[in-house]
Amino acid sequence: MISNTPGRLAGDACDHDWIWDREVETEAHEAAFARASAAWEKQFRYVMDRSPFYARKFRDAGIRKADLPLKELARLPFTTKDETKRAIDEAPPFGTNLCVPPEQIKRVYQTSGTTGAPSVLALTRSDIEEWTAIGRRSYFATGIHEHSSVLTTFGAGPFAAGHTHFVLSRIGCRSVPVAPGDTERIIFGLRAGLADTLLSTPSFAQYLANLASTPRGEVLQRPPGGRRRGGGDQKSMRLTHIVSGGESGGGIPAIRDHIQTVLGATVTEVMGLGDVQSSLFGECPQQQGMHFCGGGHVWVELVDPDSRKPMTIEAGAVGELVYTHLTREAMPVVRFLGGDIVRIEGSPCECGRATFRMRVVGRRDDMFIVRGVNVYPSAILAVVSRFRPRVTGRARVIRKTADVSVTPPVLVEVEVPNGHVADPKLAEEIETAIRSTLIFRARVDLVPEAAFGESGYKTRLTVKRP
Ligand SMILES: [Zn+2]
Repeated sequence: MISNTPGRLAGDACDHDWIWDREVETEAHEAAFARASAAWEKQFRYVMDRSPFYARKFRDAGIRKADLPLKELARLPFTTKDETKRAIDEAPPFGTNLCVPPEQIKRVYQTSGTTGAPSVLALTRSDIEEWTAIGRRSYFATGIHEHSSVLTTFGAGPFAAGHTHFVLSRIGCRSVPVAPGDTERIIFGLRAGLADTLLSTPSFAQYLANLASTPRGEVLQRPPGGRRRGGGDQKSMRLTHIVSGGESGGGIPAIRDHIQTVLGATVTEVMGLGDVQSSLFGECPQQQGMHFCGGGHVWVELVDPDSRKPMTIEAGAVGELVYTHLTREAMPVVRFLGGDIVRIEGSPCECGRATFRMRVVGRRDDMFIVRGVNVYPSAILAVVSRFRPRVTGRARVIRKTADVSVTPPVLVEVEVPNGHVADPKLAEEIETAIRSTLIFRARVDLVPEAAFGESGYKTRLTVKRP
């Protein structure tokens, strides 16, 4: 029987509540605020006492006493990624924002460090537990329950996404870990019916969908009979659910629809960021944006991306998310600018969660300005995806300088399936579509799959090339 409960995936008839932490996830804003306020009171004192980095930062901002209530949080200065990086460099390996003795650090992740040396993220036993508990809310929200079988393509390390392995094990589902980029084993796992759920970047899901639509797509078909050896009459599993994370494509309708149609699976999204919490947001099967799942542990503000003035978290608002830890022990952040520009989709949701929902519009680092208008490469991706199957769906912006202002035409490289490069009209058609949708002039270069690089694990949306 097909289940129609809002909040459950179609066909999920398990009897576990589909909201993991019902009390926290369904409470009204006032209750959530009171919960966060109480935690913040303690946390602010803790950070002032324990973190040399913040003690100095707050003193420089004229804050001497730890008595600032949560509703006045905006009086505190923002924290940037550059600052947390500098704090590490001042006293390596854990930096001046370490609030506990080093022997209490029980897990260390690294950040990708696009510029300079990698940076570290340290967790105490309690932080590990908190990451796992919040991650469980987020992944549970996507529809992954105890009965799910999940093929994971997130590496166990060095990045914070590796924490997902603890989360899956906490949910109690079957986990089928495969190294990122090991396409053959991923295909084997799906074909053999080891999993009904795939955890991957949208780039990789898109790659699988493109593969399935070609004659080579038969590699994704199950062996004849669809039965597992020794499995009695148990039918082999079918992929029904894809949870996308690591980049924002899973929320772009043209990309999501394509993956869902070709692979016949429901796509939901998760998002987190290393400096705060590896999975902080999870989209429920209503597919109306990702729910905030960090209630009681993380406080989120929304600010104007240009002026950085506080904004109200309400449907339609577009701004940058700012994160404050309420219970973190090692390396807590206060008003951390994560660089995610999001659109608030509203709250509450049919699923019963009262937490706000959002979709990522783009990364601040990827944003550029054409004639005074902010542009995110994900918007270009959405236009390009309409030209499937003549394109693969991947594209990137080439920036000649580090200058945020770009003089048109904007150079865009669009990946095309091998054999389609000679399509003389295609580049022109995409340029016209970009111009009419996004109102700027682009110059499109078609690049064959073989030359675009790395077969679709994670796509860099902006490349600097003089
Ligand atoms: Zn929901």
